[in-house]
Amino acid sequence: MKIPLPENYSYEDIAEVKDDTLYIHKFCFEDLMYDLTYALKDCSKCYYCGKPISREKSTLDHLYPKDFGGPTIPENLAICCSSCNNIKTNMTEEQFVYFFSISDDEKKKEFYRDISLHNHIFMKWYGPIIPKEWISEQKAEKITVYFFMGKGINGKTYKKVEKNYKKYGRIIRPIIVDRNFKLLSSFNVLLFAKNNSIDTLPTIVLENVELD
Ligand SMILES: [Zn+2]
Repeated sequence: MKIPLPENYSYEDIAEVKDDTLYIHKFCFEDLMYDLTYALKDCSKCYYCGKPISREKSTLDHLYPKDFGGPTIPENLAICCSSCNNIKTNMTEEQFVYFFSISDDEKKKEFYRDISLHNHIFMKWYGPIIPKEWISEQKAEKITVYFFMGKGINGKTYKKVEKNYKKYGRIIRPIIVDRNFKLLSSFNVLLFAKNNSIDTLPTIVLENVELD
């Protein structure tokens, strides 16, 4: 997939857009994606409730939650107020819009219970709750890692990947790579796959991004 890019964009000496490609010179993928989102999207009002906000008071929400495999890329980030962000927690945008429209508190709770169960079953059977066209299955051996990210097998993130693998019987969080299959995000997922002889991984290939 291609991520949206502004014509003129640079992020300190870390990244820049040239010829419709985002070149990343130094690694800090998530911060870069957050900054890019502010460059691309309206940050004057909350995406969900429409309340005016300032950039300083705004937060970024994953439209498809991280726990469902939602990646940190501009398509999946909404600029919103902290109150909406806190209420939304683990719901997709669609689920949240419906949740928002329910006025009765008991009904709200009931709806949240129902969709939590639905989301769990969905992930067990089908995998990440994100648009299918974003992901492809890639061989783990094809991915190159140029640097070490995170704490590895003793870290919390690795344990979370392990826990979710037991829970769903599959990997939910896709790894993100550039167009040359250099790893940009989710090192722990790749590490877990290698340690457990998992050959293929849900992968988001960013075709207009290059790590140099
Ligand atoms: Zn809001």
